[in-house]
Amino acid sequence: MACIFCKIAAGEIIANIVYQDGNVVAFRDTNPQAPVHILVIPREHIPSLTELQPSQSPLMGELVETAVMLAEREGVDQSGYRLVLNAGKDAGQAVEHIHLHLVGGRAMQWPPG
Ligand code: 5GP
Ligand code: ZN
Repeated sequence: MACIFCKIAAGEIIANIVYQDGNVVAFRDTNPQAPVHILVIPREHIPSLTELQPSQSPLMGELVETAVMLAEREGVDQSGYRLVLNAGKDAGQAVEHIHLHLVGGRAMQWPPG
């Protein structure tokens, strides 16, 4: 198993895990871009949105629900936050295991860089 996020989900690599259940794991990004920067991943290895199957759509819903719950827990639900899914080269996807970024705790720019 080469994927770094699969290893985090399996507990083989240490991460600052803030939530986990049978389908989803959430942990703090090691290179945070804001005061709150959490990655929410499925335990299942899905390399990218481009390879997502229709049957996996409920799992994506769980990622979003988890991020919304964590935004509230982290205290950024009122100030606002951003959920980001990078897919592919132009978006800068660096890890080929789907991950939802929860970013908050500061004002952000639009459009993104
Ligand atoms: P991407 O650019 O693929 O959307 O985001 C990958 C994110 O994973 C980056 O924000 C990067 O800082 C984070 N990351 C990469 N390797 C690790 C790691 O081993 N542990 C943690 N906690 N975050 C990581
Ligand atoms: Zn993986």
